[in-house]
Amino acid sequence: MNKKKTIIMVRVNEYTSRELNKNIPFTPDEIAETARECEKAGASIIHFHARKSNGDPSHDPEVYLEIVSKIRERSSLIIDSTLGQITVKNTKERTSHIRKMKDQPMKRADMAALDVGSTNIDTYDYKTKKFLSTNKTYHNSIETCLSLANDMDNAGVKPHLTCWTLPFLRTADALIDMGIVKEPAFVQLAFCEGGILGGHPCTIDGALAFIRMMPVKKIIEWTVTCKGGNLIPAAAVALEHGGHLSPGIGDYAYPELKYPDNAKVVKFFANLSRGYGRDIANSDEARLMLGL
Ligand code: ZN
Repeated sequence: MNKKKTIIMVRVNEYTSRELNKNIPFTPDEIAETARECEKAGASIIHFHARKSNGDPSHDPEVYLEIVSKIRERSSLIIDSTLGQITVKNTKERTSHIRKMKDQPMKRADMAALDVGSTNIDTYDYKTKKFLSTNKTYHNSIETCLSLANDMDNAGVKPHLTCWTLPFLRTADALIDMGIVKEPAFVQLAFCEGGILGGHPCTIDGALAFIRMMPVKKIIEWTVTCKGGNLIPAAAVALEHGGHLSPGIGDYAYPELKYPDNAKVVKFFANLSRGYGRDIANSDEARLMLGL
């Protein structure tokens, strides 16, 4: 059994609606309060998206900086920002907040998500036998990936490499090989359920396909997340094979846990990890493991 400590990154909001789970945090204060509660529950990293108070995506760099400074006031969590998903079209605009963080250590995120490939993220509805949208391609060319990684490196923000499919993982390997992403690299395997077909299913086999292709010659810490479904199957594989966990109500409402808040989800997965004989890493331990 693997005895390594587990890093829990809580994914608090994404661009998810409160119609799915009323506990989704939107404002900087709500996100910071969520950080405080999730740290107590066992998280060591918080991943967030800036939102307007009505829940719409916010791409205002000042809001990102405000969120980071408020999280730092209330917790010692490692802070991981989004670059905005398909909601920001221009490559340079996607790092406007990251570039602004450069000379402001208290307002600078420790890490940010870099999706290292392209995929279709439209949702298919098996009941109506229709796609709910037909043009949601999440487009990240190699040129885009290199530009984003470079902007992060210049700002002192470590990229976490999100992989939706195996070719993403091969690209992650190449970016580490180039030295543009430093070791230990942090790789996030993103599984897809709920009709999203652009990633592996969150099953034992979906997870093992990634793990069998993990670049063995690179120093990598890896974590699992699941968009649109319960993380448990991938979490079980990760806990067995030395991976880490990235749950949160931003990805899935968790009806199985009675639509909990983020801290309850963290607590659930922390207990699952302990059940596998793996203690939870605090934020200092996670910093060491990730080379921050
Ligand atoms: Zn995100």
